[in-house]
Amino acid sequence: MTSNDKCLFCRIANGEIAAKKVYEDDQVFAFHDINPQAPTHVLVIPRKHIPTLDDLDPNEASIVGTALVRLAQIARDLHLTADGYRVVCNTGEAAGQTVFHIHFHLLGGRTFGWPPG
Ligand code: AMP
Ligand code: ZN
Repeated sequence: MTSNDKCLFCRIANGEIAAKKVYEDDQVFAFHDINPQAPTHVLVIPRKHIPTLDDLDPNEASIVGTALVRLAQIARDLHLTADGYRVVCNTGEAAGQTVFHIHFHLLGGRTFGWPPG
Protein backbone atom coordinates (compact mmCIF):
# COMPACT_ATOMS: atom_id res chain seq x y z
CA MET A 1 0.00 0.00 0.00
CA THR A 2 1.44 3.40 -0.86
CA SER A 3 -1.39 5.52 0.55
CA ASN A 4 -3.21 5.43 3.90
CA ASP A 5 -6.78 6.70 3.81
CA LYS A 6 -6.60 7.71 7.48
CA CYS A 7 -3.49 9.84 6.97
CA LEU A 8 -3.91 13.60 6.67
CA PHE A 9 -0.94 14.05 4.34
CA CYS A 10 -1.93 11.14 2.09
CA ARG A 11 -5.33 12.76 1.78
CA ILE A 12 -3.78 16.14 0.95
CA ALA A 13 -1.52 14.55 -1.69
CA ASN A 14 -4.53 12.73 -3.14
CA GLY A 15 -6.50 15.96 -3.37
CA GLU A 16 -9.14 14.78 -0.89
CA ILE A 17 -8.25 17.60 1.52
CA ALA A 18 -7.45 21.05 0.19
CA ALA A 19 -4.03 22.59 0.63
CA LYS A 20 -2.08 25.42 -0.96
CA LYS A 21 -0.07 23.35 -3.42
CA VAL A 22 3.44 24.47 -4.32
CA TYR A 23 4.59 21.53 -6.45
CA GLU A 24 3.61 17.98 -7.40
CA ASP A 25 4.84 15.14 -9.52
CA ASP A 26 4.32 11.38 -9.47
CA GLN A 27 6.53 10.93 -6.39
CA VAL A 28 6.41 14.17 -4.43
CA PHE A 29 3.82 16.69 -3.23
CA ALA A 30 4.58 20.06 -1.65
CA PHE A 31 2.25 22.55 0.00
CA HIS A 32 2.27 25.53 2.36
CA ASP A 33 2.15 24.74 6.07
CA ILE A 34 -1.18 25.78 7.61
CA ASN A 35 0.65 27.28 10.61
CA PRO A 36 3.78 28.85 9.13
CA GLN A 37 6.84 29.29 11.35
CA ALA A 38 8.70 31.49 8.86
CA PRO A 39 7.77 33.80 5.96
CA THR A 40 8.12 30.73 3.72
CA HIS A 41 7.13 27.40 5.27
CA VAL A 42 6.52 24.59 2.79
CA LEU A 43 6.04 20.90 3.56
CA VAL A 44 7.57 18.48 1.06
CA ILE A 45 6.31 14.89 1.26
CA PRO A 46 6.80 11.69 -0.66
CA ARG A 47 3.48 10.40 -1.99
CA LYS A 48 4.25 7.01 -0.46
CA HIS A 49 2.92 6.64 3.07
CA ILE A 50 5.90 6.03 5.36
CA PRO A 51 5.21 7.20 8.95
CA THR A 52 8.70 8.29 10.03
CA LEU A 53 12.32 8.17 8.93
CA ASP A 54 12.69 5.25 11.32
CA ASP A 55 10.24 3.27 9.17
CA LEU A 56 12.24 3.89 6.01
CA ASP A 57 13.57 0.72 4.44
CA PRO A 58 17.08 0.86 2.93
CA ASN A 59 15.59 0.11 -0.48
CA GLU A 60 13.45 3.26 -0.11
CA ALA A 61 16.42 5.63 0.00
CA SER A 62 15.48 7.11 -3.36
CA ILE A 63 12.10 8.16 -1.97
CA VAL A 64 13.59 10.61 0.50
CA GLY A 65 16.43 11.43 -1.88
CA THR A 66 13.97 12.49 -4.55
CA ALA A 67 11.95 14.50 -2.03
CA LEU A 68 15.09 16.43 -1.01
CA VAL A 69 16.12 17.05 -4.61
CA ARG A 70 12.64 18.46 -5.27
CA LEU A 71 12.86 20.52 -2.08
CA ALA A 72 16.10 22.11 -3.24
CA GLN A 73 14.49 23.02 -6.56
CA ILE A 74 11.45 24.49 -4.77
CA ALA A 75 13.84 26.55 -2.62
CA ARG A 76 15.51 27.88 -5.78
CA ASP A 77 12.13 28.62 -7.35
CA LEU A 78 11.06 30.54 -4.22
CA HIS A 79 14.37 32.49 -4.21
CA LEU A 80 15.44 31.14 -0.82
CA THR A 81 18.85 29.91 -1.86
CA ALA A 82 20.86 33.14 -1.71
CA ASP A 83 20.08 33.82 1.94
CA GLY A 84 19.80 30.16 2.93
CA TYR A 85 17.01 28.05 4.32
CA ARG A 86 16.42 25.39 6.91
CA VAL A 87 15.19 21.83 6.36
CA VAL A 88 13.60 20.01 9.31
CA CYS A 89 12.34 16.45 9.57
CA ASN A 90 10.89 15.90 13.02
CA THR A 91 11.04 12.20 13.79
CA GLY A 92 8.99 10.91 16.72
CA GLU A 93 6.90 12.68 19.31
CA ALA A 94 9.74 14.04 21.46
CA ALA A 95 11.16 15.74 18.37
CA GLY A 96 7.80 17.38 17.68
CA GLN A 97 6.39 15.13 14.99
CA THR A 98 2.61 15.43 14.93
CA VAL A 99 1.76 14.03 11.49
CA PHE A 100 3.06 10.52 10.96
CA HIS A 101 3.82 10.67 7.23
CA ILE A 102 7.42 11.63 6.43
CA HIS A 103 7.66 15.32 5.61
CA PHE A 104 10.43 17.85 5.25
CA HIS A 105 9.80 21.36 6.48
CA LEU A 106 11.35 23.94 4.13
CA LEU A 107 11.71 27.15 6.11
CA GLY A 108 13.04 30.41 4.74
CA GLY A 109 12.74 34.16 4.71
CA ARG A 110 14.28 34.83 8.11
CA THR A 111 17.35 33.88 10.12
CA PHE A 112 17.25 30.82 12.35
CA GLY A 113 18.80 30.19 15.71
CA TRP A 114 21.02 27.28 16.66
CA PRO A 115 20.62 25.06 18.58
CA PRO A 116 16.97 24.61 17.59
CA GLY A 117 14.35 24.65 20.34
P1 AMP B 1 5.35 17.97 12.40
O1 AMP B 1 4.91 18.61 13.69
O2 AMP B 1 6.81 18.02 12.13
O3 AMP B 1 4.75 16.58 12.27
O4 AMP B 1 4.73 18.87 11.25
C1 AMP B 1 3.39 18.81 10.88
C2 AMP B 1 3.07 20.11 10.23
O5 AMP B 1 1.86 19.96 9.51
C3 AMP B 1 2.84 21.27 11.21
O6 AMP B 1 3.78 22.30 10.94
C4 AMP B 1 1.41 21.71 10.95
O7 AMP B 1 1.24 23.10 11.02
C5 AMP B 1 1.17 21.18 9.54
N1 AMP B 1 -0.21 20.91 9.20
C6 AMP B 1 -1.13 20.25 9.94
N2 AMP B 1 -2.30 20.16 9.29
C7 AMP B 1 -2.10 20.78 8.09
C8 AMP B 1 -2.93 21.03 6.95
N3 AMP B 1 -4.21 20.62 6.90
N4 AMP B 1 -2.40 21.70 5.90
C9 AMP B 1 -1.12 22.14 5.94
N5 AMP B 1 -0.29 21.93 6.97
C10 AMP B 1 -0.78 21.27 8.03
ZN1 ZN C 1 0.32 9.21 4.68
